[in-house]
Amino acid sequence: MKREIFDKEAFKKEVKDNVRMLYRKDLEEASEQEIFQAVSYAVKEVIIDQWMETQSSMKREDSKVVYYMSMEFLMGRALGNNLINLTAYQAVAEALEEMGLDLNVIEDQEPDPALGNGGLGRLAACFMESLSTLGYPAYGCGIRYRYGMFKQKIKDGFQVEVPDNWLKDGYPFELRRPEYTYEVKFGGYVRAVNTPDGRVKFVQEGYQSVKAVPYDMPIIGYNNHMVNTLMIWDAEPAECFELDSFDKGDYRKAVEQENLARNLVDVLYPNDNHIAGKELRLKQQYFFVSASVQRAIARFKKMHSDIHDLPKKVAFQLNDTHPTVAVAELMRYLLDEEELQWDDAWNITTQVCAYTNHTIMAEALEKWPIEIFSRLLPRIYQIVEEINRRFILQIQEHYPGDNGKIERMAIIYNGQVKMAHLAIAAGHSVNGVARLHTEILKNQELKDFYELFPDKFNNKTNGITQRRFLLHGNQLLAKWVTDHVGEEWITDLSKIEKLTLYVDDEKAQHEFMNIKYQNKLRLAKYIKEHNGIDVDPRSIFDVQVKRLHEYKRQLLNVLHIMYLYNELKEHPDMEFYPRTFIFGAKAAAGYKNAKLTIKLINSVAEVINNDKSIQDKIKVVFIEDYRVSNAEWIFAAADVSEQISTASKEASGTGNMKFMLNGAVTIGTMDGANVEMAEEVGKENMFIFGMSSDEVIAHEKNRDYDPMQIFNNDQDIRKVLMQLINGFYSPQDSELFRDLYNSLLNTQCTQYADTYFILADFRSYAEAQKAITEAYKDEKGWAKMAMLNTAHSGKFSSDRTIEEYVRDIWHLEKLTVEPEKED
Ligand SMILES: *Cc1c(COP(=O)(O)O)cnc(C)c1O
Repeated sequence: MKREIFDKEAFKKEVKDNVRMLYRKDLEEASEQEIFQAVSYAVKEVIIDQWMETQSSMKREDSKVVYYMSMEFLMGRALGNNLINLTAYQAVAEALEEMGLDLNVIEDQEPDPALGNGGLGRLAACFMESLSTLGYPAYGCGIRYRYGMFKQKIKDGFQVEVPDNWLKDGYPFELRRPEYTYEVKFGGYVRAVNTPDGRVKFVQEGYQSVKAVPYDMPIIGYNNHMVNTLMIWDAEPAECFELDSFDKGDYRKAVEQENLARNLVDVLYPNDNHIAGKELRLKQQYFFVSASVQRAIARFKKMHSDIHDLPKKVAFQLNDTHPTVAVAELMRYLLDEEELQWDDAWNITTQVCAYTNHTIMAEALEKWPIEIFSRLLPRIYQIVEEINRRFILQIQEHYPGDNGKIERMAIIYNGQVKMAHLAIAAGHSVNGVARLHTEILKNQELKDFYELFPDKFNNKTNGITQRRFLLHGNQLLAKWVTDHVGEEWITDLSKIEKLTLYVDDEKAQHEFMNIKYQNKLRLAKYIKEHNGIDVDPRSIFDVQVKRLHEYKRQLLNVLHIMYLYNELKEHPDMEFYPRTFIFGAKAAAGYKNAKLTIKLINSVAEVINNDKSIQDKIKVVFIEDYRVSNAEWIFAAADVSEQISTASKEASGTGNMKFMLNGAVTIGTMDGANVEMAEEVGKENMFIFGMSSDEVIAHEKNRDYDPMQIFNNDQDIRKVLMQLINGFYSPQDSELFRDLYNSLLNTQCTQYADTYFILADFRSYAEAQKAITEAYKDEKGWAKMAMLNTAHSGKFSSDRTIEEYVRDIWHLEKLTVEPEKED
């Protein structure tokens, strides 16, 4: 019998039965966590039917499938969004209420599966959701880290990292699939064997292996019965009798092999836009890529006999260079297992693989020392060497005698394997993640590659899913939008543009701002509970939430707050509209200046929040443990969105889009997707400031920027910077913030002072902030501006982005999933 989630009574019984089955308890005795589990299993029952229907439709239609390969999937909680996409949220909320349960409280029991750092991982999650909603067959391929992104605690103003044991109570939405276990081999050496038919076969020997076991998670489309699969790989020890025959009986090797599996997927590296270069990281990459490639091929071969058809049925999208070994792994399979000729194998590989570039920052570009790479992946290294040899021949043919080209473009050079070069040479597509970023790739960072392969380069401006970031995260506004423009926006965000009809309507303005106010109340309550700080929901909520990174310039924001506070102290009677500055950010555990910036924010908060003389005109709040679940509430409550990266450094940004959708107004530089946001909503409905990317790039080239000149000539800036080193915010230790001061002025500390042009942009930023205050005082004007931002956010749906990937790169067909007939 088919279960119907909308059958309230059946659902209620299912929840009660689950509590008994799982915990041998009645509902009244069950803990909140146990109820969350029971409810989730009841929801999973419904999902399973649709999941199986989707899989059989895919088989029946023999659909082409995209494998989205990513080291990170920052999924956020599943229960609420699964219910939203099953269009069962209200019904389930009511059923639970009748049982005396609150769905919000139950949702809050779910840990965030935080298998990602920030934007790149969240993009992968939005893409999976859009793929399902649009009806495109897809697998996400990633790693089931036992510990995801660390939990952040703030102790004494400092960040403390706490392990995130997200699996401790069991995760109800995952499904272990041991029948799809694969072996992944590391180390050893390659032996060339002559075959009877006169060929040479390469075999890896003396290796250690681990078993890769996938866990499937359902990715539910909105109201369409489509359920795609996110497969994340766990590592299990290969039993020692499975040791390579060469090493049978080698006890030490057997133990090493077991340890390899133990550690392999323990942790996610907590660096955003920065490469740690650790050997274990390369092992993680090859581990999940090899397993995913093996499963993709096995699936293909079940239905097809000619491997040359692979590009017709399979696409691999490489989310940054992290999964780039996929190209060599696919080559290995085609050469060694399928015994294809090189050109044949290369042809297939090129058509299957495509690469997304996420950053131009040098410290984020992956380069592996040959020593590590060849020792860990000896056969893969041989193949990369051959790819490199042929690629260099191609360069020489195009640019005879130009050794500079080879120096700049070779895949292996100076003792290093350059993963971006490998991805570009071996894929058919290289895409940037916003228009400006793509142009910088073509004209600056990857200029040589663009000249050689102009047709590979394309832009796919990032997007976000409106199902999570409006329909679920901001239910009041979602309902209001639907009341005004109908519900089409849920699956076609361009339809939200119809809101422009209401931007001058006073009643609509009033309702829109009242919803913002309700969301600010909800966040104020969260802040009171978590920080113990009272914030006034009538003040301007000015929010910067994102990873802590120097290029994102949280420091510019704090320095400006310090400046405003000085102004208020010097002119107590000045007109001042109350502001609440809200921050949320995790810093990589080893990133000193980032962690010190968190301490500075908290120290500034401590002083300002407790200064009675300024009558609560400024409040500063640092929200602990910024993550997808609290992000949803934060976006809904924001008046002002801080997108203030040094121009040219933020490839796209997606936080900017979530704020825009929720009716926050952006203060930002002309960087990343901000440029396209300005195009959509109009510069007059944003607060744009600072140097352009061309100016920044020119200064970097000419090395002619001197922050000391600004320091010497601007009293206000000087005063703020002196407060970093005179103990004003750190009375116990006036040296505490010295490194931040040095980063701005001291050329001995970094290659040049103020690498991110904070002082250069300070005045222009302060002016833009002042303009915001003026604009906010005009209630109607502000309401209109906020509404226009929501109304013009249509382009920034990940549905639009996915349609572009499908059209230009993947060439998938939509699948319709027919619900099975009831018996
Ligand atoms: C959207 C999102 C990000 C990315 O934010 P940016 O401002 O684009 O850097 C990071 N973390 C979480 C939890 C997010 O939801």
